[in-house]
Amino acid sequence: MANVAELMAEARSLDLFKPHGAFEVHCSNCHTRLSPMGDCPQCGLIGRPEAELERRAQAGAAGVERTLREAIAKRRAYKPVKEGRAT
Ligand SMILES: [Zn+2]
Repeated sequence: MANVAELMAEARSLDLFKPHGAFEVHCSNCHTRLSPMGDCPQCGLIGRPEAELERRAQAGAAGVERTLREAIAKRRAYKPVKEGRAT
């Protein structure tokens, strides 16, 4: 669990938690189509509330840990196309 808590803190610091409405199909950050889970395959945004991941971590940390690691890696690799240009 300590590991998951650290990953949660890191994801939070990268501003990855952006719960979307059930009707949202595009990422609010980069407008890529979201995965069926509501996560963004492009910039690593996690379209689910932290509380939901915490609940899942209690049931089994491995899957949540992987989700968080992948999201963090995606965000680190992600380069905004329109950098410095407000929309
Ligand atoms: Zn995105």
